Amino acid sequence: MKILFGSAGTGGLGYERGLETCKDMGLDAMEVEFTYGVRMTDAQAKNVGKLAKELNIRLSVHAPYYINLASKEKAKLNASKKRILMSCERAHHLGASPVVFHAGFYQQRNPEDVHDMIKKEINALKQKIKEKKWKVRLAPETTGKPSQYAGLDELLRLKKGTRCYLCIDFAHLYARAQGDIDYTGIMKKIKRFSHIHAHFSGITYTSKGERSHKLMEKDFFMPLAKAIKKAKPRSMTIICESPDPMGDAVKMKEWFES
Ligand SMILES: [Zn+2]
Repeated sequence: MKILFGSAGTGGLGYERGLETCKDMGLDAMEVEFTYGVRMTDAQAKNVGKLAKELNIRLSVHAPYYINLASKEKAKLNASKKRILMSCERAHHLGASPVVFHAGFYQQRNPEDVHDMIKKEINALKQKIKEKKWKVRLAPETTGKPSQYAGLDELLRLKKGTRCYLCIDFAHLYARAQGDIDYTGIMKKIKRFSHIHAHFSGITYTSKGERSHKLMEKDFFMPLAKAIKKAKPRSMTIICESPDPMGDAVKMKEWFES
């Protein structure tokens, strides 16, 4: 069992100092956040990737938020695919994988139809990645709102239909379940993955699901930690998305190992 802990983003320090700080704090991973746009050249990506490799920090990428692979509008669908592919190209030069994204919205449609649309687009994106010979995996994420595609079971089905990776955001699943979450049951479903890519943080929610991420507390983390230890996955990365992603990732790592 190899569990890596890392930070979502650089904590505002920039890539170089962010990576060095991660290393100094004893972290193992970092997710490069393109959440508000892919603002990095391929040359920059190569430099950042080189430094991460030297420091032994495993990188992944979060693609922009504005993505809907089930959009009814062709222009929006194409823009969504372009954002994912730009993220994949940078990820390839960074040596980062997977590329995480929120796949789409239901917009009052039949969930089955939305699932089929997203499946088709992910298969098309995978084909493109193969043509370009980029060494990256796509990882649609479990989202925090029932109006947004998708929950765990749908994504497990998507994984079967596309052989994509997944990003399991436990805080989002907690909000979807209105706090009544079964970590042991979730770990049972995913423990056989060759690698589990996960997000976690504190979370606030309403009846409509996720509201905001908040700081991590030990009492909130330990039930998940226990379920992970019981399931013994082969390899797992847990990226902390709290307002203090580095500090809280360190805390999670310490609590997990104690
Ligand atoms: Zn997340």
